[in-house]
Parts: sequence; C-alpha cells; structure tokens
Amino acid sequence: MTVATTATCIAPIARVSGCDLQVPLVQGGTCTYANFDYAASAPALAAVTDHIAELLPFYASVHRGAGYASRVTTDAYEKCRAVVSGFVGAADDQVVVFTRNTTDSLNLLATAVPGEVVLLDIEHHANLLPWKNSRIVEAADTVAGTIERLAAELRRAPAALLAITGASNVTGELLPIGELADLAHECGARILVDGAQLVPHRRIDLAATGVDYLAFSGHKTYAPFGAGVLVGRRDWLDVAEPYLAGGGAVREVRLDHTEWACAPARHEAGSPNVLGAAAIAAACDALAGFDADAVARHEEELSALLVAGLHEIDGVELLRLWEDSCDSVGIVTFTVAGYEPAEIAAYLSAEHGIGVRDGRFCAHPLLARVGRAGGAVRASLGLGSSSDDVERLVGALRRLVEHGP
Ligand code: PLP
Repeated sequence: MTVATTATCIAPIARVSGCDLQVPLVQGGTCTYANFDYAASAPALAAVTDHIAELLPFYASVHRGAGYASRVTTDAYEKCRAVVSGFVGAADDQVVVFTRNTTDSLNLLATAVPGEVVLLDIEHHANLLPWKNSRIVEAADTVAGTIERLAAELRRAPAALLAITGASNVTGELLPIGELADLAHECGARILVDGAQLVPHRRIDLAATGVDYLAFSGHKTYAPFGAGVLVGRRDWLDVAEPYLAGGGAVREVRLDHTEWACAPARHEAGSPNVLGAAAIAAACDALAGFDADAVARHEEELSALLVAGLHEIDGVELLRLWEDSCDSVGIVTFTVAGYEPAEIAAYLSAEHGIGVRDGRFCAHPLLARVGRAGGAVRASLGLGSSSDDVERLVGALRRLVEHGP
C-alpha cells in the first residue's frame, strides 16, 4: 500500500479490482483502463474480493437453520452489522438495516417518517423522490445562505426530518452535517444524511455529529453491487410498516394476525444478501484501516491537479454549487464548449481508454439550477486513482480541444 508523496506523482492509495484492465482502443491496440467513475460505482478493494472469495465455498441461509453452515453464516451476518455500526460510530439506539442500496434505504426510511420532510432542490433523485410529504428548499449560492434558508423553513413549520446529502454527487461539495444536525434538533426534527458519496471518502461519526439516519451503498464503498445500509434510530423503524412482508420479519403469524419483529429483522424479510453484507463489512474494515487524513489529502491533491489542468484548456467550465464551500470529495464535473457531454465521454473511452460519466447524474433539478440542463461530464476519483490517470485525462481533453475528435 502506497500513499501519495508529491504534487506531481501521486500513487494510488490501494489496489482495487480492474486496476490492470486492458481496454481496446478504436485506433487499434489496447491500453490500461483509467477509471474516473468512482462516484457511480467504486471498484472493489482487494481486501473485499479476497474476503468474499474466502466465504464463497462455505455459506448458508441465515436465521433459518440449525446446521453448522447456517449457524456460522448467521453469526457472520450479525457481526457484519456490528462492523458497520462501529465504522459509522452508531449510537446505542441506532440499528443497522441491510438493504439493496442507498435508494432502497431512503425508500425504507420514507415509509417510517411520522411527518413532513425538509430537503434541498439539489438532491440526487434517490433523496428527492421517495419522500411523500416533502417541503423543498431552494439552495442559495453559498453554503451559509443555504443553511439560513433551511433554518427558516424548519422554523416556519414543524418537520419530522431534514433529509440532506453529505456530499454532492455532481460537484463533490460537502455540507456541514454536524451543524445541520444541531439545527434540525433545535427545530424538533431529525436528520438523515444521504451518505452515498460521503461514506466512501470521509469518516463519519453518527454519535459525535448527532446524525440520526445514514444511508449508503456497498457498490460506491468499494464493495460489489447488491447491498446497502440504513443506519438509524430504532424507534421509528420499530413501529413502521414492515418494508417488505414475508418470512424473517415476523415473530408470529396466524392466519388472522401477524406479529411483526422489531428492526432490523422487521425490514429484512426474505433471505438476506449475506455476501453483500459481508462485502460491505469488509470494505468498512478496510476503510477503517486507512489513515483518513491521507485518503482526504490524496483526493484533494488529485482534484487540484485535475482542476488546474482543466483550467488551462479553452472552453472548459467547471460546475460548482456554492461560492463559499471549501471542502469536497474527489468529484470534478465540467463542460467543454462546442462538445456534447456524451461526445466527450465517447471520445475519452474509445480513443484513450478513459471512463467518465456523462449526463445529468440523476440530479436533473441540480443540473437545471446550475444552467446545465443538457448535462455535463463527471470525473470522479477514489483510492485507486493516480496522477498518471489525471495527466492522461487532461492530455486527452487538451488534444480534443486543440485537434478535434
Ligand atoms: N445518493 C447519491 C448522492 C448518489 O450519488 C447516489 C448514486 O449515484 C444515490 C443516492 C443512489 O445510490 P444507489 O444507486 O446505490 O441506490
């Protein structure tokens, strides 16, 4: 494991799956894939793939069998909850529910909120569409102004929940979740943090910040697809309508009456995704082993290198939400005058083996708000990113602008 040392040669922090992938180029030959799509799905850490490979020869359904394999797997599954709980600093009254992904976690919580939900207009659709009784606040041009507007709305009328992103999936900018948690609590509300883009990049401590609910996805947190997490205060979850009805979520079933279990079992009906939970727990363990400051510095330095390179290319414009935001995760989103985002993404892939994301990033209102209703290009970084990757991306874009596709 190596850590970046200089501004010009920044090595990956960790080995991730696909880091040696050879991809075909349209002009012939192949090159090593340069992955700038961590924000969509982060490649699995080697520690995660190794752990899953160890479990694969030997697992069984959980909470349902007395056989040795079933007992051991049940034990392992419940330990995954404890690992995740420890990783996010959950308080004693917070429970970990395994879901399919962040979207699933937020839809589950939406069924449990006993009142109205306040949110910003810049959210990912996953944190916009599930809320039934929502009051949407228009973000201001500054973080400070945005917090003032949220405060005014929370004070104007009682709300049960403030649902807020920890890090924007479009610009990477962070919101001060501790301050927002204090604000929500002062106003008698709870706070949910959409941690899909935050948890893979920054350590979060629920008990210390006062955050009541946190949702995140395994596949953005260096584990494979299929499992996600909702961590949160158990009282709402214990009385909410079960998210799925079926085996495992009940204490007793008679034909005329069902006695449901408490959370987390209440919301995990059906045979759970044990390997998905194991992968998330392994990813949390691995992330906990990295120096958090080094991880943040690695992304900061690579982002600075990328932004500096992009600034030197004619016609490139970066997207930002807030004039006063000073901290962001490794997400850099931009447009290039004269080129459609899809055209740029296709060119980078076909001619340079570089993977970026183009489009509106499941955040249509945000893109409209920053004047990019036609979409943009997003380059996102992670533990496997390096300054070589950044130089390749900047070089490819410069070439596009100077010489055409
Ligand atoms: N929230 C944010 C901020 C995201 O970036 C994403 C995915 O891009 C989601 C929620 C939804 O995550 P998933 O597709 O894993 O449910």
